[in-house]
Amino acid sequence: MAGLASANRFLELAAEARLDLDLHVLEAGPRPGRAIRTLRQDGLIAEAGADSFLTENPAALDLVRRLGLEPELISVEQRDAPVYVVRRGRLVPIPRAFAMLAPSRLLPVFASPIFSLRGKLRMALEPLIPARRSDEDESISSFVTRRLGRETFERLVQPLAGGIYVGDPRRLSIQATLPRFCAMEQRYGSLFRGLSEARRHPRTNSGARWGLFASFRNGMAALVDALGERIGSALRTGLEVMAVGPDSPQAGYEGAAEREAAHGPRWRLRLADGTSLAADAVVLAVPAYRAALLLAPYHRRLADLLAQIRYVSSAVVNTSFRTEDFQRPPTGFGVVVPERERRRVLAISFTSLKFAGRAPQGTILVRSFLGGALSPGILALDDEAMVAAVLADLQDFFGVRAKPCFVDVARWENAMPQYEVGHLQRVAEIEREMRALPRLALAGAAYRGVGVPDVIRSGETAAQTLFSRLVPKA
Ligand SMILES: Cc1cc2nc3c(=O)[nH]c(=O)nc-3n(C[C@H](O)[C@H](O)[C@H](O)COP(=O)(O)OP(=O)(O)OC[C@H]3O[C@@H](n4cnc5c(N)ncnc54)[C@H](O)[C@@H]3O)c2cc1C
Repeated sequence: MAGLASANRFLELAAEARLDLDLHVLEAGPRPGRAIRTLRQDGLIAEAGADSFLTENPAALDLVRRLGLEPELISVEQRDAPVYVVRRGRLVPIPRAFAMLAPSRLLPVFASPIFSLRGKLRMALEPLIPARRSDEDESISSFVTRRLGRETFERLVQPLAGGIYVGDPRRLSIQATLPRFCAMEQRYGSLFRGLSEARRHPRTNSGARWGLFASFRNGMAALVDALGERIGSALRTGLEVMAVGPDSPQAGYEGAAEREAAHGPRWRLRLADGTSLAADAVVLAVPAYRAALLLAPYHRRLADLLAQIRYVSSAVVNTSFRTEDFQRPPTGFGVVVPERERRRVLAISFTSLKFAGRAPQGTILVRSFLGGALSPGILALDDEAMVAAVLADLQDFFGVRAKPCFVDVARWENAMPQYEVGHLQRVAEIEREMRALPRLALAGAAYRGVGVPDVIRSGETAAQTLFSRLVPKA
C-alpha cells in the first residue's frame, strides 16, 4: 500500500508539473497490496487482511476522494454495538466508557464484572497518581500498570492495545503506539481527567460522517484495484528487487551533472529477471528487514537500524455459518481474548454484523485472529489445527457446533512491525542516516504508523519529498 500510494502521488505531482515520468513499481509478490486482500465467494465479501481503516487520519479519505471512490465507502452498522472480552471463559461486554487504555467515566466501569473490586479501587486511584517526570519511553504494560494497576492491564488493555499490533504490550512502546495517552498524562496529570475532557469536547475530523472506521462496499481491495488502475503498466508484479546501489556516473541526459552534484549518484536496481534499472529516485516501500538486506552492502549503519525493527507473524481465519448454527447468536462486533485466558484465538470479529453486505441473509461471517508476538509458533500449525482452534472458541462462546459453510486461512508471515520501546528514537536515527541519501526514501508500516492511512501518508510523503528535491519549482 505504501508503494502504491507513493507511485500514485508521483503520477499526480508529475501531471501537475506537466512532466513526463518514467515510473516503475516493482512488486515481488503475485499481486499488489499484500495485507489488503478481499475474498469474494458465494455472496461473501471476506477480508484476509485489513478489513477497514480509521477515518481520523485524513490520508486515506483524501486518497479515496482523489480516486473517485467515495461513493464506494461504507461505515460501520450500529456504531454502539458492544465488543466483548473473555473473563474466566465467559463473555463480558466492554463498557463504552473504557477507551482502549483507561475509563472516561468510572461508574459504568465499576458496574462491569470485568474487574474485581480490588482492581476497580486501584483504577479509581488513577487521578491521584502523579504524572511521570521523565520523558523516557516505556512499555504499554508499564504505563498502564503504573497508572491504573496490573488488573486493568491484564484483563483489558493487553488484548485491546496488543491486538492492534498483534504484539506484546510488555515490549510495545507507549510513545510510538498510543502517544495520545502520554500527552494526556503530561497535560492533565491523569488519563481519567484527560478522557473526561475529550468527552466534553469531542474532536471532529474530515471523516466524521463515516464514524471512526470505514471500508468499501466490495471490500478493501477496491483501494488496491483503483491504485493499480491508475498506475497501469508501470506496475509489474512477480518481480523482486535483488540489490540496490549507486549507479555508475551517468552522462548524456540533460542536467545529469548538476543533479549528481546536488543529490549524489542515481540508483541502480538489480532485478530478479536478470535485468537492471537506473533511477533518479527510489522509494523503498518494503518491510524494514527487506530494506535492511537491500541496503546492507551500501550503508551498514542504516541497515543495522532497520534490522532492529522486529516483525511478527499472524493468521486470519475467515469462516461463515448459518445464523441458526449459533445457539447464542452474537450481538456485538466481536470478542477480544486476554493472554491469561490461555486460548489460541486472539480476537474474533463478526464482519457481517459490522458492515452491511458482507454475507447473504441468514449467514454470519466470522473473522478470527491467531498468532502474534504472544504465540510465535502459529505458522507451524496446519490450516486444520487453526480452524479447529477457532471452532472450539465459537462452540464455547456461542454454542456453534455446525461445520462452517466457508473457510479461508490467510497466513501473514512477518507482516506486522513491532513498535517496541525506543522505536521513535530508532526511527529518528534512521531518518538522520537517510539525509545522506537524498535520492532515496523509505516508506511503509515499519516507521510511523501501521494502519492503512498511516501507510498511505508515508508513501505519499516519500513521493513528495523526492519529487521536490529533484524537480525544482518553476
Ligand atoms: C492480518 C492483518 C490485518 C490488518 N488489519 C488492518 C486493518 O483492519 N486496518 C488497518 O488500517 N490496517 C490493518 N493492517 C495493517 C496494514 O494493512 C498494513 O500495515 C499495511 O497494509 C502495510 O503496507 P506496507 O506497504 O507498509 O507493507 P506491505 O503490505 O508488507 O508491502 C510491502 C511489499 O513489498 C514487497 N516486497 C518486499 N521485498 C521486495 C523486493 N525485494 N522487491 C520487490 N517487492 C518487495 C512485498 O511483496 C509487499 O507487497 C493489517 C495487517 C495485517 C497483516
